Amino acid sequence: MFKKFKKFFYLHILRRKYYRVGACKACGRCCQKIYVKHKQVIQTEEEFKRLQLLHPFYTYLKIIDKDETGLVFECTNLDKETMKCKIHKKRPGICRRYPQEELFLMGGNLAEHCGYKLVPIESFEDVLNKISKKVK
Ligand code: SF4
Ligand code: SF4
Repeated sequence: MFKKFKKFFYLHILRRKYYRVGACKACGRCCQKIYVKHKQVIQTEEEFKRLQLLHPFYTYLKIIDKDETGLVFECTNLDKETMKCKIHKKRPGICRRYPQEELFLMGGNLAEHCGYKLVPIESFEDVLNKISKKVK
């Protein structure tokens, strides 16, 4: 019963397609090589400066590169020696919720060896059954 309720809640209330499963291994990889999406992936320093006024999280980031996707950031709160977050207890919600399926929508992937996985809420079979019921 709880499983059914959870599935309904995720699919129809939260409108999610994936469950996040697993646990963080505190490797710090997701705090490096970050893309920032605000309507679109941030491409210029000017866009980024405007974004920094909107949320304190963005003030933690520094530009380290630019590639075909956009500007690449790393977080200044990452301790490079321990690979731990220096503000772990006070880290922003966006960090607590990582990874979310929006990551896929912006063409991203989970960091290598991340302890989390995003698994589809509906199996391929579920989706196929739904389609065949509609066709009948
Ligand atoms: S605030 Fe901490 S958890 Fe969030 S990106 Fe920075 S180092 Fe990582
Ligand atoms: S990449 Fe995954 S396992 Fe590593 S710190 Fe980020 S959430 Fe945790």
